Amino acid sequence: MSAAIIDGAAISKSILAELKTEVQELQQSHAVVPGLVTILVGDNPASLSYVTRKVRTALELGFHEVQENCDADISEKDLLALVERYNQDSSIHGILVQLPLPDHIDEKKVIYAIDPDKDVDGFHPVNIGRLLLGGDEVRFPPCTPAGIQELIVRAGVELEGAEVVVVGRSNIVGKPIANMLLQKNPRANATVTVVHTRTRDLAAHCRRADILIVAAGVAGLVKPEWINPGCCVIDVGVNRVGEKISSKTGKPVAILRGDVDFDAAKEIAGSITPVPGGVGPMTITMLMKNTLASCRARL
Ligand code: NAD
Repeated sequence: MSAAIIDGAAISKSILAELKTEVQELQQSHAVVPGLVTILVGDNPASLSYVTRKVRTALELGFHEVQENCDADISEKDLLALVERYNQDSSIHGILVQLPLPDHIDEKKVIYAIDPDKDVDGFHPVNIGRLLLGGDEVRFPPCTPAGIQELIVRAGVELEGAEVVVVGRSNIVGKPIANMLLQKNPRANATVTVVHTRTRDLAAHCRRADILIVAAGVAGLVKPEWINPGCCVIDVGVNRVGEKISSKTGKPVAILRGDVDFDAAKEIAGSITPVPGGVGPMTITMLMKNTLASCRARL
């Protein structure tokens, strides 16, 4: 039987509708709207495309959106000063610095300079620490892991006691999602294993997963025979494997593939996210959710 497709685009749309209602209520009750600044350095096409989508979504929700497009040669000192300006700006509740930054800027310094109470990406060490502690401590769960958790919950997949295997141990996906799903709460309570490039038998770990989360960035890494029948497969990977001409614009666009062989895997899995249209749309949605939460916390 073919797996249920977890439609991230549709789930994302319904969460955004919920957020929009909340924004309107907040505006009526407290005369305040969430404020988000997006800081882009240079003109990397992928970064530009991500920022454009974030700005568009924020505006659609009725946020106060400020866009800062900096030249690629902005000095580290000036970028830090810009971040500090928005740390002090009370109309701004979320600061998003689009990564990666050019080589002459120390990314870590910039992330550390963001006020943890405005760090809606959830990358500041203070917020990573809070995430680890769990419960009431958590302020801003990082957006992609938060989107993954939301997809699993909204797809009705049981997390309580589930064997979760996470492929990848990056700071932005693997490590935070593993920590989020092992917390003691009804949206987690899973038994989590993290596997990576030094794991001895990747296949054996994957085969016993009730929920398999793959964030390696290697197209087709997970073979169909590694999938436990009925498993929930969350494919985070986004790999450019070629180009095609868009039927809409007539221009070349990237062909994207996940880390899982989708066509074969969907015949074995119980549910699965597509690429694109699975985890991707959720990341921006969770950024908006964090910005709204930051605005509420300020009231
Ligand atoms: P990363 O390169 O920082 O980390 C990849 C991890 O996978 C590493 O920990 C590495 O140990 C592990 N890995 C790599 N190859 C492996 C292999 N052959 N066997 C076992 N483990 C292996 O990447 P990242 O930033 O975590 O992103 C991972 C993927 O997710 C990328 O394709 C990225 O584009 C995608 N991504 C998507 C979104 C989204 O919103 N959809 C967000 C973030 C990342």
